[in-house]
Amino acid sequence: MPEPLAGARELVDDLVGDRAAEWDRTGEIPDEVLRTMAARGLLCAGVPADFGGLGATSAANGEFTAYVGSRCSSLRSVMTSQGMAAWAIQRLGGPRQRAMYLPKLAGGQLAAVAFSEAEAGSDLSAMTTTIEPDGDAVVVRGRKVWTTAAHYADVIVVVGRYGSGAAAVVVPASAPGVTVRRVPLPSGCRAAGHADVRLDEVRLPADAVLGGGQPLMLLVTTALAYGRISVAWGCVGILRACLDAARRHARDRRQFGEPLARHQLVGRHLANLLTAEQIATRVCEHASRGWDSGSPDMVIATVLAKQVSAVQAAQGAATAVQVLGSTAAHEGHVVERAYRDAKLMELIEGSTEICQLILADHAVSMAA
Ligand code: FAD
Repeated sequence: MPEPLAGARELVDDLVGDRAAEWDRTGEIPDEVLRTMAARGLLCAGVPADFGGLGATSAANGEFTAYVGSRCSSLRSVMTSQGMAAWAIQRLGGPRQRAMYLPKLAGGQLAAVAFSEAEAGSDLSAMTTTIEPDGDAVVVRGRKVWTTAAHYADVIVVVGRYGSGAAAVVVPASAPGVTVRRVPLPSGCRAAGHADVRLDEVRLPADAVLGGGQPLMLLVTTALAYGRISVAWGCVGILRACLDAARRHARDRRQFGEPLARHQLVGRHLANLLTAEQIATRVCEHASRGWDSGSPDMVIATVLAKQVSAVQAAQGAATAVQVLGSTAAHEGHVVERAYRDAKLMELIEGSTEICQLILADHAVSMAA
């Protein structure tokens, strides 16, 4: 059986080339890059073959996500959004909705997922967006913020209140009442197309509603699980790029008559970077094994992977800057981008503190 991601890294090498810094500076990934990846199903490679996807395992998709993340965190962020949209549809949608939406996402359409609002960041229970039935339609009203990839998206999966519970709704970005406005000058992942999304009386057919009536936090946890594993693997990619740049520099650059790597304090930085990359890789592999075997521990293993990988990536990128010195002090250098991008990974998909609270609850509830 052919490996579903065969040739994918080579395609990414061709598409990204040495342009990631330029995309970061201009804040834009060219449409042809995103459409080519989307049409090959690579932005959501976990979509099952029955729905036109590549059917990659979480482990294989994770390694591919890390590869993309090592080249361009903005492109990896778009992948995370697309994969999360597909996962939300797969988990929350009925058979007809899966058949209606998933082949499009695996075949070229671009998607984003909107949970956050100005007053509902870490505390998504404060969400005020509503999805209200109206005859054979629904009306969506709300204001979402910081939606990754919304600038590029054809459809936005919007989470909101639905009766006494919650639902997600698949909103075409072109629907009347939808306004997408870019977040100005994000500090990292600058080409990921972050945007605020206004939903003014957006009228959609009722079959655009997914998972209607579920408790809000259950729905959010389900949809976020994919985002978390994807970001975690993306952080592995950031660490690999940093380790690679730091070890090359420490080997080639000489000070005090010796390569930097021969100075023990620089050697310690390299050891710390290697350790960070290995720790992040192992927690991600562990979580992906849980996804691939359907383990009941998959959700908590994913939170652990996200928390550990994001912290390691933020610290590792700072370490890499230290090893490269002024070489990394140029805007657009791979390590300089990693430093800005990695810090944001500690804020999203459940910040480091929110992940720690989930892990603490888990620790308390564990059997003795
Ligand atoms: P706040 O919730 O105000 O938190 C600020 C600080 O307080 C954080 O350190 C937080 O950990 C801490 N804190 C808050 N509550 C507690 C607590 N109870 N205990 C301890 N510490 C606490 N949203 C989407 O819906 N879709 C997206 O695609 C998306 N992409 C994003 C991409 C980027 C680059 C960024 C920066 C944000 C994105 N977001 C997205 C929004 C993101 O999910 C929120 O920024 C995140 O949930 C944190 O919310 P906040 O920024 O409002 O911070």
